[in-house]
Amino acid sequence: MHRTRVGDVEIVSLFDVYFGFDPHRVWPTAGDGLEAYRDRLEPNGDIGMDCLCFLLRADGRTILVDTGLGPESGGVLLEELREAGVRPEEVDDVIFTHLHGDHTGWNIDRATGEPLFTRARYLVPRGDWDEQTSRAQPASSFTRDIAPLNLMKRMELVDDGRVLTPSLTTVHTPGHTLGHMSIAVHSAGERGFILGDVFLTTIDVEQDGWSGMFDTDMELATKTRRAILDRLEADGSLVGAAHLRAPGLGRVVRVDGKRVWQGIAP
Ligand SMILES: [Zn+2]
Repeated sequence: MHRTRVGDVEIVSLFDVYFGFDPHRVWPTAGDGLEAYRDRLEPNGDIGMDCLCFLLRADGRTILVDTGLGPESGGVLLEELREAGVRPEEVDDVIFTHLHGDHTGWNIDRATGEPLFTRARYLVPRGDWDEQTSRAQPASSFTRDIAPLNLMKRMELVDDGRVLTPSLTTVHTPGHTLGHMSIAVHSAGERGFILGDVFLTTIDVEQDGWSGMFDTDMELATKTRRAILDRLEADGSLVGAAHLRAPGLGRVVRVDGKRVWQGIAP
């Protein structure tokens, strides 16, 4: 759990789980280029990623961005929330950057089948909803975590430019999934950006052309990644990224002509 501010908006980074991947699978086109990043890998050669959610307190509302991988994976989101002093029933809105299962895991209380955030309105990116419902649904994280919210009439679709509060607006950032959304924060002259999976690691900030295996549309994901990195570098936003190592908060800066990630200390 790590707490910071952008203007009058409080941003709390919440850890759920850790996972590691073979970097050659994550970036199939990187090849020998990965040699330069040996020091960013784990001792076993994996690229390590955390699974993070972000709690935003803005304009009197409490908004949770993403709900992690969930209880089956030993996730600790609820402990982190407790440590942050927030009870699940205090969350007004849950918004998903996208509908992959590592962002929707804590929606439903497994014991009761009811929404775990009992009062919340659940905001779903329209493009991802359309993509998921346009085909037959085998059992999946979507059928477990999202479809019940629709049946219970607790869900609302969101598009680009939706004003969540005066300080928070959605930004369509497609490619990782077609409906992928980020949340732009603007408060008291300061800017922030919760970007979901627009980039996954600090390596992506430097190698923005390396295609990622997790991206639905690699070409579109690369285009979006470059555009968002340009924007974040230019406006100096405090960034929250879902799969950087905790707390996953920092800035995109240029050092000696090279774009890099500058994290804030855990
Ligand atoms: Zn993810």
